[in-house]
Amino acid sequence: MRYRTLLKKIASLFLLLLLLAGCASGASPAGGVSPSPAELRGTELFAMDTYMELKGYGASDALLEAAADRIRALEDALSTTREESEISRLNRDGETNVSEETYRILTRSLELCRETGGALDITVYPVVRAWGFTTQSYRVPERGEIAALLETVDYRGIARDDSTRAVSLPESAEIDLGAVTKGYVVDVLRSLFEEAGVHDALFNLGGNVLTMGTKPDGSLWHVGIQDPQGGLLGTVEITDKALITSGGYERYFEDEDGNVYWHIMDPQTGYPADGGLLSVTVMGDEGIRCDALSTALFIMGTEGAEAFWRNHKDFDMLLVTSDGRLLLTPDAAAVFTPDEACPYETAVIEP
Ligand code: ADP
Ligand code: MG
Repeated sequence: MRYRTLLKKIASLFLLLLLLAGCASGASPAGGVSPSPAELRGTELFAMDTYMELKGYGASDALLEAAADRIRALEDALSTTREESEISRLNRDGETNVSEETYRILTRSLELCRETGGALDITVYPVVRAWGFTTQSYRVPERGEIAALLETVDYRGIARDDSTRAVSLPESAEIDLGAVTKGYVVDVLRSLFEEAGVHDALFNLGGNVLTMGTKPDGSLWHVGIQDPQGGLLGTVEITDKALITSGGYERYFEDEDGNVYWHIMDPQTGYPADGGLLSVTVMGDEGIRCDALSTALFIMGTEGAEAFWRNHKDFDMLLVTSDGRLLLTPDAAAVFTPDEACPYETAVIEP
């Protein structure tokens, strides 16, 4: 299964690279003495279990290297599968002082848990592990096992001290920031590039995308969105936005009876969230919030996601439903071009 997931990820990355390559060959400014556009330069890496591509007009080797180093440092600090990470230490000891950055991510994550009414809950980790998603040793836990683990799931039990950056977890609770980390990383990359004077850039961390500025001819970045059932859903033209997709198709397994279980858990039930959605793409200004929302809206399900959007309207979204519909907020519909093969019945969500 893991192999299949990896193959899918490679295929989707390839598709996106092709797409972006096509778009990046933009025309140079016509005639005149305008300065020649900065060269598009980038790097690729595999980190956080994901293929990542970073590129920007005028990006230096030093910047690209610093960006890759920063991603690896964040992985070292936040990964639950690295025994020496700050999060692993917290999970093991139940209480620890964390670095400034880890404290900041944790604090923002907890705000997002609250904003989503606990659909996002970073303490769901023991449940995710019981299903085997942390080790790829997949299994369907007994009901009793899930019920016992759910006793420890509640982000509101996490205590923090702003002055010492001490964090403590209730007995047996453990956390995982996997639902928000890549969104946070694209925010960090944006700051790094901006500080280096690179204002036109695109980061794609396996479907977690952030664009900055434009191409030299002033045209917008085209970003492909994957069809959760394979292939391309369509493209959006965006600037200065994060675009982040979550879906059951990213990581899942099948039992002997053909039931499919995926890695996004409903913290209320301890079972994979089943709200009638195949994928959720969120577009907005802040990467970490888009990442949190893409996961949380998937859990809320079609109607819950629509209601949440109507209450906030400070982001946009594309929902692919399991009954074959593609639902878009009006501003998402305005920038989205469906792929020719897009099999879904498309509708705009009423504001
Ligand atoms: P991905 O990281 O695969 O792009 P997501 O951003 O949707 O996808 O994050 C999914 C990860 O978040 C899971 O692998 C799991 O570790 C964790 N997770 C699953 N359900 C929840 C939840 N309800 N709240 C917080 N984290 C979750
Ligand atoms: Mg997420």
